[in-house]
Amino acid sequence: MSPDPDMPAGEAAAPQVEVVPLGRVNSTAAQVVAANLQALLALNAIVTPALPEPSQALLAARGQYDAGIILQDLAGSQEAPLRLGLLDKDLCVPFLTYVLGESQLGGRAAVMSLHRLKQGEGGGRAQRHVMLERAAKVGLHEIAHVMGLEHCRTAGCLMRFSAGLTSLDRLNLGFCPACERDLDRLRIERFS
Ligand SMILES: [Zn+2]
Ligand SMILES: [Zn+2]
Repeated sequence: MSPDPDMPAGEAAAPQVEVVPLGRVNSTAAQVVAANLQALLALNAIVTPALPEPSQALLAARGQYDAGIILQDLAGSQEAPLRLGLLDKDLCVPFLTYVLGESQLGGRAAVMSLHRLKQGEGGGRAQRHVMLERAAKVGLHEIAHVMGLEHCRTAGCLMRFSAGLTSLDRLNLGFCPACERDLDRLRIERFS
Protein backbone atom coordinates (compact mmCIF):
# COMPACT_ATOMS: atom_id res chain seq x y z
CA MET A 1 0.00 0.00 0.00
CA SER A 2 1.37 3.43 -0.87
CA PRO A 3 1.56 6.00 1.92
CA ASP A 4 -1.38 8.35 2.40
CA PRO A 5 -0.31 11.63 0.71
CA ASP A 6 -2.18 13.67 3.33
CA MET A 7 -0.26 12.19 6.24
CA PRO A 8 3.40 13.23 6.64
CA ALA A 9 5.60 10.19 7.27
CA GLY A 10 6.34 9.46 10.92
CA GLU A 11 3.66 11.77 12.28
CA ALA A 12 0.76 10.06 14.01
CA ALA A 13 -2.25 12.38 14.02
CA ALA A 14 -3.96 12.87 17.38
CA PRO A 15 -7.30 11.06 17.56
CA GLN A 16 -10.34 13.26 16.88
CA VAL A 17 -12.87 10.60 17.84
CA GLU A 18 -12.59 7.80 20.37
CA VAL A 19 -14.86 4.80 19.99
CA VAL A 20 -15.28 3.63 23.60
CA PRO A 21 -16.60 0.10 24.26
CA LEU A 22 -18.79 0.15 27.39
CA GLY A 23 -18.63 -3.34 28.86
CA ARG A 24 -18.40 -6.41 26.64
CA VAL A 25 -18.79 -5.35 23.01
CA ASN A 26 -18.08 -7.07 19.69
CA SER A 27 -14.56 -5.81 18.92
CA THR A 28 -14.97 -6.20 15.15
CA ALA A 29 -18.01 -3.93 15.28
CA ALA A 30 -15.99 -1.33 17.22
CA GLN A 31 -13.21 -1.46 14.60
CA VAL A 32 -15.71 -1.22 11.72
CA VAL A 33 -17.39 1.82 13.31
CA ALA A 34 -14.02 3.55 13.78
CA ALA A 35 -12.88 2.69 10.24
CA ASN A 36 -16.06 4.18 8.77
CA LEU A 37 -15.68 7.40 10.78
CA GLN A 38 -12.19 7.60 9.33
CA ALA A 39 -13.19 6.75 5.77
CA LEU A 40 -16.43 8.73 5.38
CA LEU A 41 -16.02 11.63 7.82
CA ALA A 42 -12.23 11.99 7.45
CA LEU A 43 -11.91 11.98 11.24
CA ASN A 44 -8.98 10.25 12.87
CA ALA A 45 -10.79 7.63 14.92
CA ILE A 46 -9.43 5.03 17.33
CA VAL A 47 -10.94 2.31 19.50
CA THR A 48 -10.01 2.75 23.18
CA PRO A 49 -9.77 0.01 25.82
CA ALA A 50 -13.21 -0.84 27.21
CA LEU A 51 -14.74 1.01 30.14
CA PRO A 52 -17.04 -0.82 32.58
CA GLU A 53 -20.69 -1.21 31.69
CA PRO A 54 -22.46 2.04 32.72
CA SER A 55 -24.41 0.62 35.68
CA GLN A 56 -25.27 4.17 36.82
CA ALA A 57 -27.44 4.48 33.68
CA LEU A 58 -29.33 1.19 34.11
CA LEU A 59 -33.08 1.67 34.45
CA ALA A 60 -33.82 -1.53 36.34
CA ALA A 61 -37.59 -1.43 35.76
CA ARG A 62 -37.08 -1.24 31.97
CA GLY A 63 -33.96 -3.39 31.73
CA GLN A 64 -32.50 -0.67 29.50
CA TYR A 65 -29.77 1.95 29.75
CA ASP A 66 -30.57 5.67 29.80
CA ALA A 67 -28.71 7.21 26.85
CA GLY A 68 -28.80 10.73 28.35
CA ILE A 69 -26.93 9.69 31.49
CA ILE A 70 -24.28 7.87 29.45
CA LEU A 71 -23.79 10.96 27.24
CA GLN A 72 -23.21 13.21 30.24
CA ASP A 73 -20.61 10.84 31.65
CA LEU A 74 -18.83 10.34 28.30
CA ALA A 75 -18.46 13.97 27.21
CA GLY A 76 -14.91 15.10 27.89
CA SER A 77 -13.34 18.55 28.03
CA GLN A 78 -13.08 20.88 25.03
CA GLU A 79 -9.58 19.58 24.32
CA ALA A 80 -10.48 15.87 24.55
CA PRO A 81 -11.44 13.89 21.44
CA LEU A 82 -15.12 13.44 20.65
CA ARG A 83 -16.41 10.18 22.15
CA LEU A 84 -18.75 7.53 20.80
CA GLY A 85 -19.78 5.01 23.43
CA LEU A 86 -20.58 1.55 22.13
CA LEU A 87 -22.85 -0.69 24.15
CA ASP A 88 -24.21 -4.20 23.63
CA LYS A 89 -27.22 -3.52 25.89
CA ASP A 90 -30.47 -1.85 24.87
CA LEU A 91 -30.61 1.95 25.05
CA CYS A 92 -33.54 4.25 25.66
CA VAL A 93 -34.45 7.81 26.47
CA PRO A 94 -37.24 8.36 29.01
CA PHE A 95 -39.94 9.19 26.41
CA LEU A 96 -39.06 6.58 23.74
CA THR A 97 -39.31 2.77 23.82
CA TYR A 98 -35.73 2.45 22.58
CA VAL A 99 -33.06 4.27 20.59
CA LEU A 100 -30.36 2.80 18.34
CA GLY A 101 -28.17 5.78 19.15
CA GLU A 102 -28.27 9.20 20.76
CA SER A 103 -26.00 12.20 20.56
CA GLN A 104 -25.36 15.76 21.69
CA LEU A 105 -26.03 17.97 18.65
CA GLY A 106 -22.89 20.06 18.17
CA GLY A 107 -21.54 18.63 21.44
CA ARG A 108 -18.85 16.18 22.52
CA ALA A 109 -20.43 12.73 22.85
CA ALA A 110 -22.66 10.11 21.28
CA VAL A 111 -23.66 6.61 22.28
CA MET A 112 -24.98 3.69 20.28
CA SER A 113 -26.16 0.16 20.95
CA LEU A 114 -25.53 -3.03 18.98
CA HIS A 115 -28.39 -4.76 20.79
CA ARG A 116 -31.12 -4.33 18.15
CA LEU A 117 -28.73 -4.23 15.18
CA LYS A 118 -28.31 -8.01 15.52
CA GLN A 119 -31.99 -8.69 14.87
CA GLY A 120 -32.81 -10.48 11.63
CA GLU A 121 -36.15 -10.85 9.96
CA GLY A 122 -38.77 -12.87 11.78
CA GLY A 123 -36.98 -12.66 15.13
CA GLY A 124 -33.84 -14.50 13.96
CA ARG A 125 -30.31 -13.23 14.01
CA ALA A 126 -29.11 -10.79 11.36
CA GLN A 127 -26.24 -11.90 9.14
CA ARG A 128 -22.90 -10.61 10.34
CA HIS A 129 -22.36 -8.21 7.44
CA VAL A 130 -25.85 -6.76 7.98
CA MET A 131 -25.14 -6.08 11.65
CA LEU A 132 -21.75 -4.51 10.84
CA GLU A 133 -23.18 -2.26 8.13
CA ARG A 134 -25.92 -1.10 10.49
CA ALA A 135 -23.34 -0.36 13.18
CA ALA A 136 -21.30 1.72 10.71
CA LYS A 137 -24.43 3.66 9.72
CA VAL A 138 -25.53 4.43 13.29
CA GLY A 139 -22.00 5.48 14.29
CA LEU A 140 -21.68 7.82 11.29
CA HIS A 141 -25.15 9.31 11.84
CA GLU A 142 -24.56 10.00 15.53
CA ILE A 143 -21.07 11.47 15.11
CA ALA A 144 -22.36 13.68 12.27
CA HIS A 145 -24.89 15.04 14.81
CA VAL A 146 -22.04 15.65 17.28
CA MET A 147 -20.25 17.58 14.52
CA GLY A 148 -23.38 19.75 14.34
CA LEU A 149 -25.29 18.24 11.40
CA GLU A 150 -29.09 17.98 11.72
CA HIS A 151 -31.48 15.59 9.99
CA CYS A 152 -31.85 15.68 6.21
CA ARG A 153 -34.84 14.85 4.00
CA THR A 154 -32.92 13.62 0.95
CA ALA A 155 -33.86 10.04 0.05
CA GLY A 156 -31.16 7.56 1.04
CA CYS A 157 -29.01 10.13 2.89
CA LEU A 158 -27.55 8.76 6.10
CA MET A 159 -28.81 11.86 7.96
CA ARG A 160 -32.44 10.95 7.36
CA PHE A 161 -34.23 10.15 10.58
CA SER A 162 -34.84 6.41 10.85
CA ALA A 163 -37.35 5.10 13.35
CA GLY A 164 -36.10 1.52 13.27
CA LEU A 165 -34.15 -1.15 11.43
CA THR A 166 -36.34 -1.21 8.31
CA SER A 167 -35.75 2.47 7.59
CA LEU A 168 -32.08 2.22 8.65
CA ASP A 169 -31.53 -0.62 6.17
CA ARG A 170 -32.91 1.56 3.35
CA LEU A 171 -30.33 4.32 3.91
CA ASN A 172 -27.09 4.49 1.96
CA LEU A 173 -23.82 4.04 3.79
CA GLY A 174 -23.04 7.67 3.02
CA PHE A 175 -24.25 11.27 2.99
CA CYS A 176 -25.96 13.28 0.25
CA PRO A 177 -23.82 15.98 -1.45
CA ALA A 178 -25.35 18.79 0.65
CA CYS A 179 -24.62 16.96 3.92
CA GLU A 180 -21.09 16.15 2.71
CA ARG A 181 -20.46 19.86 2.08
CA ASP A 182 -21.80 20.76 5.53
CA LEU A 183 -19.67 18.07 7.16
CA ASP A 184 -16.52 19.35 5.42
CA ARG A 185 -17.25 22.85 6.71
CA LEU A 186 -18.06 21.65 10.25
CA ARG A 187 -14.88 19.57 10.37
CA ILE A 188 -12.75 22.54 9.37
CA GLU A 189 -14.50 24.81 11.89
CA ARG A 190 -13.97 22.37 14.71
CA PHE A 191 -10.55 20.90 14.04
CA SER A 192 -8.40 23.55 12.36
ZN1 LIG B 1 -30.54 11.52 14.11
ZN1 LIG C 1 -28.29 14.70 3.47
